Amino acid sequence: MANNGLIEVPMGITLREIIYDIGGGMPGGKACKAVQTGGPSGGCLLASLLDIPVDFDSLTAAGSMMCSGGMVVIDEDTCMVDVARYSLGFTQRESCGQCLPCRLGTKQMFDILDDITKGRSRPEDIDLLLELGEAVGRTSLCGLGQSAPNPVLTTIRYFRDEYEAHIQEKQCPADVCKMPSSGVS
Ligand code: SF4
Repeated sequence: MANNGLIEVPMGITLREIIYDIGGGMPGGKACKAVQTGGPSGGCLLASLLDIPVDFDSLTAAGSMMCSGGMVVIDEDTCMVDVARYSLGFTQRESCGQCLPCRLGTKQMFDILDDITKGRSRPEDIDLLLELGEAVGRTSLCGLGQSAPNPVLTTIRYFRDEYEAHIQEKQCPADVCKMPSSGVS
């Protein structure tokens, strides 16, 4: 957004009002591609969902959450697989290690995402991420592990075509990832 910072808004305001009326819109005339709400373990919502109200139930129904109230607005030049990898890397490092699903599950998910963004993916990786994400979220002891898979599950839900391009064609549509054929280094 053009204007970054701390704001206080009423419950029920839409994401669009926050981004365009208060935030001043997207810099450089770029399109908004997604919004991650709730911090690094929040879900990434498709730009077509900008008119949903910001409240606990609506964000949860869309696959994200309110949590800290943090919001990251993502532009059209961003790779959503890389966003998932970055977000999960953060929560994986924050894991205290007490319970196995969070300690090892997030590590395994991160390694799969890292492989996908480096052109080392396997055809079954999307299904494996979905299975692991569901298990980690359901069986972790505290909110960190329970919410950590959100960025992965929502980027697969809303941007599955980007995962498929990385896995099947070994291409990063945003030309962000270090794919063997992309020349990005
Ligand atoms: S879910 Fe919570 S208790 Fe379990 S390892 Fe993660 S941070 Fe620790």
